[in-house]
Parts: sequence; structure tokens; C-alpha cells
Amino acid sequence: MEVTSQKFKIRAGSALVNEGLQHALRKSRGGFVDKRQQAVDDLPQFEQLRSRAVDVKNHVLANLDKYLDEFERNVSAKGGQVHFASTPEQGVETIIDICTQAGAQRVAKGKSMIGEEMDLNDALEADGMEVIETDLGEYIIQLAREKPSHIIAPAIHKTRGEITELFYEHHQKYGLTERVDQVETIVNEARTVLRDHFVNADVGITGANFLLADSGASVLVTNEGNGDLTSSLPRVHIVTASIEKVIPSLADLTLFLRLLARSATGQEISSYTSIYSGPAKSQDMDGPAEYHVVLLDNGRSMMLQGEYREMLRCIRCGACMNHCPVYQSIGGHAYGWVYPGPMGSVWTPLLVGLQNAANLPNACTLNGRCGEVCPVKIPLPDLLRKLRHQIFERGLVDRKSRLGLALWGWLARHPKVFRFSIGMAARLLRRLAGRQGSIRSLPLAGGWTESRDFPAASGAGFVASWNSARKSR
Ligand code: SF4
Repeated sequence: MEVTSQKFKIRAGSALVNEGLQHALRKSRGGFVDKRQQAVDDLPQFEQLRSRAVDVKNHVLANLDKYLDEFERNVSAKGGQVHFASTPEQGVETIIDICTQAGAQRVAKGKSMIGEEMDLNDALEADGMEVIETDLGEYIIQLAREKPSHIIAPAIHKTRGEITELFYEHHQKYGLTERVDQVETIVNEARTVLRDHFVNADVGITGANFLLADSGASVLVTNEGNGDLTSSLPRVHIVTASIEKVIPSLADLTLFLRLLARSATGQEISSYTSIYSGPAKSQDMDGPAEYHVVLLDNGRSMMLQGEYREMLRCIRCGACMNHCPVYQSIGGHAYGWVYPGPMGSVWTPLLVGLQNAANLPNACTLNGRCGEVCPVKIPLPDLLRKLRHQIFERGLVDRKSRLGLALWGWLARHPKVFRFSIGMAARLLRRLAGRQGSIRSLPLAGGWTESRDFPAASGAGFVASWNSARKSR
């Protein structure tokens, strides 16, 4: 997928004035957050589960080669095949080879962020195959020729009216000529169209939430059940996943399932949890004749060795973006690659190069919510700070920001001058704000005042309050 993260500021600016997007974001805002909170409140041992999940993930990451070997052995023992791909290009080549050998013309595809990393749809289509997304959200954005804007709700940026028009435009060829504008009728129409594709597809491609080393099984969590039809009806099933998705066993899976659904959608458990363990056996009534797992590295082995290793604990629940004020204001497309929000602001620079995504770690207020809600306790704010430091060290910030930061650094090292300057600035801001208490337009802070008022400092300031609190103790 093309990386456009360098254009983050421009795209974020456009997103802020895109009325349709803002309407869709307003409608979705809060839903996941409230439901997650309720689900967490209902499970008193949630914190314990988080800690155990961290331990399991850390253990796996410390022994990743061992668990990947074990996974591969067990897939082979069951008649499947594991293909390791260092790069997205290798992954695509492998999948096209499998499809070509299967004589595939039609591919049914479930949601897969690894597929997005590989730009799989475009590659398969360029090779002459017809690809149909089978997840409703993915299907909607496929019709719109767009990319996902959220890792668990790819079409969250679309309004119902936009979906109605997309279906109206694209479903005429199936004889579906009514405008459907209710959730139920939209879902039913998608079901009608997709059913044929499930039955006629030669190859089914799904993602995987987890890979079980001790059995060679892959696990897929969905709310639509499309994964089961995608994997069991076509003759060939291909699972796409990244190497860090492996966990030791089924016993560990139950731990992660309890955390994943609650953190993602606030459900106790997702509607479908499917475990695929290889091609159909002679006594099975259905299932694919061939089973392949394509495991993508794409820079993760490098991450494993460095200071961002904790990011590899991510289970792609999306909670960090649901709680991020920046994501909630601009949606996912502005981030310019596969992964948006706080986790994307760490993943993207690490996977596509800091120089190609230097704006992303700065797209953060450092309010800390992402780190607080992450079910595997990834210290996202710390990782973002580290990246900011690296961006500064490598000279990837513009001259104006460098000067500003250098001035700030100098002030911070000279406490007397710092206090004096801050006091002056606070007094000046109070005067400019007058009775209103906030400023509409402020030179040098146009980026702020363009979209919201700048609040004047209130009270005595942090240091003065701190000192007077100390004296009064
Ligand atoms: S970083 Fe944490 S909160 Fe964000 S998607 Fe990954 S697991 Fe979920």
C-alpha cells in the first residue's frame, strides 16, 4: 500500500473540514468507549488478565523462533503448508503462485491487515483475478475504492447515506435496483450479493487473530461469520498473518479472547471464533483441499531486537484509536498507511521508515489514554516520545520546530528565566483573552486557533501553586 504519511498535516486539515467524515465520526464517537468501559467493569479480574497477557506475549517474543518452528511443524503434520515472507512483495508472490497453481479466477477475501500491508487486492486484480471482500465493512470500502480507516471497523468513516448510494450504483448489475437505506436492508442486500461469490470462489483468503503453536491452528475472530464461508467453501484456503501472531496454545487463546472482544467492541466474546487446523480430512464433510499460511515479517524481526519490541504485543483490538482524541477528530485515512491512531503512529514509522512518517509520532496530545486502555499494556505514549526524540536527533523536524524546541530546551535549563518568561506570557495571554477567558486568534499559534479557541492561563501557574502548597504543609 502506498505510504502517504508524509502528507499527514494536509490530510488531517482536509479531514477536519470534511463534513461527511465529521458526521460519521461524531456518530461513532463514544460507542466503543462506553461499551468497553462497561465490559471491563463487569470483569473484576480484567487487570489480572492484562498482566498475564503481557507475560505470555513477552515470553513468546523472547522465544519467537521456537514457537514459529513449532507452528510450522504442526501445520505440515496436518497437511498444510507455511510460507515465510520477509517482505510484502514476497508475500504477494507466494499468494499469486498458490492462486495460479490452483487455476484461480475468483478470490473471496476476509479482512486482513496483512493483506493491506501487501496491497494484496491490487496485486491479485493486476494478475487477472476477481477479488471480493466478504467482510461487510471491507466490501463497502472496496466498492468505494478506498482503504480501511480503522483496524476493526474499516468503513467507520462512511455515513449510511454514502453506503446507500454505493450499493445503488454497484448492485444494479445484480438486478438490485432499489435504494436500501436501513441497516437491515443494507446487510441483507450485501448478503445476497456476497453469497454467490462465496460459492463460486476458487480461493478463500482470511486473516488470523492468533496462531496456535502447539496445534498449528489459526484463529479468526469475527462478528459476521464471513470468515467461515471464505475458508470452508473454496477449494484453497490461504491464511495471511504476521509472525508475532503466534501464541503457545489453546489455553492461552482463552486469555486473549477475553481481552480482545472487551477491548475492541465491549463484547464479552465476539460472535464467531473460528479455529482452522488444515485441509479437510477424508472423513470431513467440508473444508478446503489445500491449506496455506503466509507469514509476513516486514520489519518485525528488526523490531524484535530493538527498543520498540513491546509494540509486537499488539493484538489489534483498536482500543487505542477509539480513545484517541486525534484519531476521533480526523479518522484513519489521514495517517497515510495501513494502521491509524496511536498504534499506527508507532507501527508506521517503524515499518515504513521514520523519514516517511515523521509527522505521525507528533499527532498525539500525550494524554495517555491509549496506554491506559491497551489490553497488553503497550506503553504507547513512551514509544511515541522515543520516536519524537529520534525524529529530532535525525533532523527530521522542520527548521521552525527545531528552533522552537531548542528555545524551549534552553528555557527549561534556566529555571529563573523560565519562570519569568512563563509569568510574562501568562499575564499577556490573560490580558489578550479579557473577560472571555480565551483567545480566537494568536500569532505563532495559528495551527491551534484555526480550529479552536486558545484558553488563557488561569490561576497562579504550576510552579507558584506547587511552592505555595509546599509552604502551607
Ligand atoms: S496498541 Fe494496544 S490498544 Fe492499540 S490496537 Fe494494539 S493492543 Fe489494541
